[in-house]
Amino acid sequence: MTDSNEEHKEKMVDMKAKHRANIKTKKRSGRGLLMVNTGDGKGKSTAAYGTLVRALGWGHDVAVLQYVKGTWKTGEKEFFKRFSDLIRLEVMGEGFTWETQDRTRDIEAAEKAWQVSMEMLTSGDYDLVILDELNIVLRNDYLDKEVVKDGLLARHPRTTVIVTGRNAPDNIIAAADLVTNMEMIKHPFEAGIKAARGIDF
Ligand code: ATP
Ligand code: MG
Repeated sequence: MTDSNEEHKEKMVDMKAKHRANIKTKKRSGRGLLMVNTGDGKGKSTAAYGTLVRALGWGHDVAVLQYVKGTWKTGEKEFFKRFSDLIRLEVMGEGFTWETQDRTRDIEAAEKAWQVSMEMLTSGDYDLVILDELNIVLRNDYLDKEVVKDGLLARHPRTTVIVTGRNAPDNIIAAADLVTNMEMIKHPFEAGIKAARGIDF
């Protein structure tokens, strides 16, 4: 049976009190977080860029470093370029491994990208740093996982960092404050539909 309006109100008053009491037990983090978006489902990079939009709304200083999609033209890259006064963008990857087909060059690119990442993380210049597809580079063993974990943890207290990509390594997951695993339920690719402009890139 559905509640009368009075019963509903009583429940809501109770719920509000519990919610408030719960919030009171929490404290402000006082420092930036280490966040990881991983898993097989779509949304890892776009969720990171959604957070960037939020941060920009508060006038925060933000930087994005793309580890993999170097040569690929994407909507987000075109957008970031248009707002270069607000968003620092570094595109360091040479492209997907099956495009570069050159392990030595990929490793060199990854090491250079990691140097720039460390500069972004430790300078104290940014509230938010997005290291897009860093997990892919770690998965390929182009960078040392422990060195990367230590670097992420050594970030400036002001700085939140979001790491994206499938197959996040266990040590990064263990070190993170927030980990989201995107689960693929359905993807149009499976139904033979090509990646689309403005949706997938
Ligand atoms: P997005 O950039 O759309 O948030 P993502 O960062 O979660 O995707 P990536 O692994 O970086 O996913 O994949 C890059 C490209 O592959 C994007 O064009 C994305 O739409 C597409 N993609 C993501 N998940 C899947 C999937 N499960 N099957 C096929 N293609 C996918
Ligand atoms: Mg991605």
